[in-house]
Amino acid sequence: MSSTSRLVKDEQVEKDQVQQRNQQPEWLQAFLERTFFDTCVAHPIRRNELNKYCINCNASACQYCMSSGAHRHHRVLKIYRHVYKDVVSLGSMEKYIDCSQIQVC
Ligand SMILES: [Zn+2]
Ligand SMILES: [Zn+2]
Repeated sequence: MSSTSRLVKDEQVEKDQVQQRNQQPEWLQAFLERTFFDTCVAHPIRRNELNKYCINCNASACQYCMSSGAHRHHRVLKIYRHVYKDVVSLGSMEKYIDCSQIQVC
């Protein structure tokens, strides 16, 4: 019996290790769930799109939001529209996270 319980314990340790290895910064999930290219509520200017993401504020933003200085010194990602997908250049992500786990398409 004792051998069985030890097995379970070992498995849990391993799971924790896997989780730790795949740990992503907490903003990443919010970033991935966020939609971009909507009109900015603060700057409803024609052809103006929310194509930036501020990691510090956990918010999408437009170029006017950025130039207002509110996000100065914040970590900002630029989002590109690629076919039907919102993409971010791997190079800019790499500054903030370890991208070795991320699949590039
Ligand atoms: Zn804006
Ligand atoms: Zn910000």
